[in-house]
Amino acid sequence: MNVFTHPEFDNHEHLSFFCDPETGLKSIIAIHNTSRGPALGGCRMFPYATDEEALRDVLRLSRGMTYKSALANLDLGGGKSVIIGDPRKHKTEALLEAMGRHLESPGGRYIAAEDSGTSVPDLKIMSRHTRHVAGIATRTGFDGNPSNGDPSPATAYGTFIGLKAAVRHKLGRNDLTGLKVAIQGIGNVGFRLASHLKEAGAELWVYDIHEDNMRRAVEQLGAKPATAEDILFLPVDVVAPCAMGAVLNDHSIPEIRANVIAGAANNLLDRPEHDAMLKQHDILYAPDFAINAGGIIDVFYERTGATPEKVRAHVDTIGDTLTEIFNRSDSSGLPTGEIANELAEERFRKHTAGAGLAPSRLARTG
Ligand code: NAD
Repeated sequence: MNVFTHPEFDNHEHLSFFCDPETGLKSIIAIHNTSRGPALGGCRMFPYATDEEALRDVLRLSRGMTYKSALANLDLGGGKSVIIGDPRKHKTEALLEAMGRHLESPGGRYIAAEDSGTSVPDLKIMSRHTRHVAGIATRTGFDGNPSNGDPSPATAYGTFIGLKAAVRHKLGRNDLTGLKVAIQGIGNVGFRLASHLKEAGAELWVYDIHEDNMRRAVEQLGAKPATAEDILFLPVDVVAPCAMGAVLNDHSIPEIRANVIAGAANNLLDRPEHDAMLKQHDILYAPDFAINAGGIIDVFYERTGATPEKVRAHVDTIGDTLTEIFNRSDSSGLPTGEIANELAEERFRKHTAGAGLAPSRLARTG
C-alpha cells in the first residue's frame, strides 16, 4: 500500500495510523491542509473491506473538507478520520475511548465531528480523552430550536437554500409551489429537506432503503413513495440525492429527466468527468461540497460562539455562492463542479495570502 505516492495523497500534511489491540480500534487520521485553520471533519466508522479502501476514503474526504471550508469562507482546514469496523457490531465504549486518545495525538490540528457510523453520543464518549471533538454542545440552534450539536438541521436548511438558488437559475422561478422534487434517502438530512420543501409548497417523491423512513415522509409530509429503480429518473424538476455518493454516473446521467440536481450527499459524481457529462445533458448540478456546507458552518460556530442569527446568515450565503458558480459556469462554458473547485481555490488563496501565510499548498486534482 503506497502512502506518499498514493494517487489521492495530494500533499497531505499529516497522516496517522492507530491500532489498539485491546479494544480492536484501527483508525486513520488524515489532515490535508491547515493553512486556513485547524482541520475539522467527520470521524467515519465503516466496515472497509481493505486497509487500502480505508486509506483512499480518508484521503479523499479530508481533501474535500479543505475545499468545502474554503468555499464556505470558514477559517478551517481540511481533515477527516476513519475507524475500520462495522458500527453495528464493533462499536463499543472502550473503542470510542481509544479513538478519543488517538484524536489527542495531532495536538488540536484535527478536530473530529460526527459522520456516517458515528453520532453525538459517540463523540461525547471520545471527548472523555480529548478536547478535539465538535458537534456535541447543547445550545440554541441556528433556527432558534434547541440543538444537541447535530449538524444535520443546518445541512438540510443549507441544501434547501441551495436548491432554491438552483431552481431560480435554471427554471427562473422563486416560488416553489408545485415544484416536483424527488429525494433519494430520507434520513437526518433528507427528511428535514423534505419538510422545508413541503412547507414551501413543493410536491415530493421519496425513496429510502428503510421502509419506516419512507413511511414517515409519506404519512407526515404527504410525499409519494417511489422505488429504488425510479427515484432518480422520475419526470420531476429536481432530484435531491441525500443518501450516498457516486449516484451520478455513466448509467444514471443519460436517464435523468430532472433539470436540476441539488442534494446533500457527499461525492455525488462517480468520476470527475461526470461533471461535464451533466452539463452536456443540460442538467444544472449544484456541487455537493457547496450545497451541503451548512453542517460545517454550524459546527464552526459551535466552537467560536455566535448568535443563531449569525449562523443562519452564514448558511444563507450558500445560495450566493451557488449563484456565483452557476453564472461563472454559464459565461465560461465550464461545468459547475470545476467552477466550484476554482472558486474554493480562489477563496483559499485570498485568505492565506491575506494572513501572510505560506503560499497555497493546495493542488488541483480536478
Ligand atoms: P442518514 O444516515 O441519516 O441518512 C441517509 C439515508 O439514506 C438513510 O435513511 C438510509 O436508509 C438511506 N439510504 C442508504 N442507502 C440508500 C439507497 N441506496 N437508496 C435510498 N436510500 C438510502 O445520513 P444523513 O446525515 O442524512 O446524510 C445524508 C447524506 O448527506 C450523506 O451522504 C452524508 O455524507 C451527507 N452529508 C450529511 C451532513 C450532515 O450534517 N448530516 C453534512 C454534509 C453531508
